[in-house]
Amino acid sequence: MKKNVSSIVLSFLLVASSVTGSFAANLSKDSNAGVKAYSHVKYLAETIGKRVQGTEGEYNSRDYIKSVFDGLGYSSTLQEFEIERKIEDNTVDSATSYNVVATKKGISEMQVIIGAHYDSKVGVGLGADDNASGVAVMLETAEAIQNIETPYTIKFVAFGAEESYKDPDTGASNRGLQGSKHYVSQMSATEISNTVAMINLDSLLAGDNMYVYGSESQQGFVRDQALTIARRLNLNVITNPGENEEYPIGTTGDWSDHAPFQEKGIPIAYLEATNWELGDLDGYTQTVKHGEIWHTDNDTLEFLEAEFPGRVEERLSTFSNLLINLVLNLNQMEIDKLELRLGNPMFTLNGEAKTMEKAPIIMNNRTLVPLSLFTDELGFEANLSEDSNELRLEFRDLTISMSRGDLENHFTIHDNHVLVPIRYISNGFNGTLYWISDTKGIHMVY
Ligand SMILES: [Zn+2]
Repeated sequence: MKKNVSSIVLSFLLVASSVTGSFAANLSKDSNAGVKAYSHVKYLAETIGKRVQGTEGEYNSRDYIKSVFDGLGYSSTLQEFEIERKIEDNTVDSATSYNVVATKKGISEMQVIIGAHYDSKVGVGLGADDNASGVAVMLETAEAIQNIETPYTIKFVAFGAEESYKDPDTGASNRGLQGSKHYVSQMSATEISNTVAMINLDSLLAGDNMYVYGSESQQGFVRDQALTIARRLNLNVITNPGENEEYPIGTTGDWSDHAPFQEKGIPIAYLEATNWELGDLDGYTQTVKHGEIWHTDNDTLEFLEAEFPGRVEERLSTFSNLLINLVLNLNQMEIDKLELRLGNPMFTLNGEAKTMEKAPIIMNNRTLVPLSLFTDELGFEANLSEDSNELRLEFRDLTISMSRGDLENHFTIHDNHVLVPIRYISNGFNGTLYWISDTKGIHMVY
């Protein structure tokens, strides 16, 4: 991963002067991404093995993570906190756990927190997926950006004691998320308001699909930017399709270390591999082949490699490439967002209300919008052939061509309006399109 420092400075200046519009990102995909992460997974899940909160395994992994950070030149610190833990013989007592914190100063004091828990579930597996993988991608990212100037200060936090357990006496699930809750409890009001976003990494290896989730509404900008980066770099990362109304499109539940940050109003993003098309459509059933891997004895590198050849490497490579590019390019102003509704000519562009010449309609399974929306409002260049049968669109160094007709990738002329298929255009220009079913809304982030 190489990055020209002057372009980062430039993109930061664009933020500082509140210039919206062009995506100043400098993206690149590293074919070796994930290789270092793999060695961290192997060390945590095999050399150390079980990392149950408040036990030797957790302390050994704490020391390993700290030594990796310090070896990279970050001077990391430990944040100690008291926990209630359940150990293998089923008794509960109190113990100590730790967060490991490493900071990389950015151009701005404003910070992005990247977090992953390093403990593993009591009693089962070796926590290769859950969550040696998240820690590994965090450590690889810390290494990749160590000598590159970043627009924001980056705070890496390896959380202790994330996993919950059932209390053997009451049967109640303990509260879990103890490290992230402790971290948030120690944040000052200034630190909270200086935190641009929190990005959580949890369970990246086993699931059938790779996802990025985010907060609802405008606070979901990190997810939107991650999806845009994924599309531009051809990384196979999608978001929760929102088939379960409890977890609307693009979002997720409160079961991991992002939750305490989200409760404080900090925008979050969350990377995970699972499968939202299975089981109760709640993201808990990770794979078609074996159902859940996390919190089972199957959560080992050996099992994953035997049952899903190539998956571990692919996940580590994809998520490392995504996170590194996201961290180097993240800012709140680079993403443009168009929000429109079927049958309504009103729309908003980056929050500003406007009107288009004709309301969006569905015709032959395409959602069609006036070409003038793209040319007059979004700054596309359009070239319609003299016989009106061919249309070429140009935007940000990309070009797509369309013929006139009824297919998905065709444009139409209707009542003297040139109408173009928004999904085809969004895909062609690396945008991400969200369908909001209850309002018949369409959101395009590009
Ligand atoms: Zn986890």
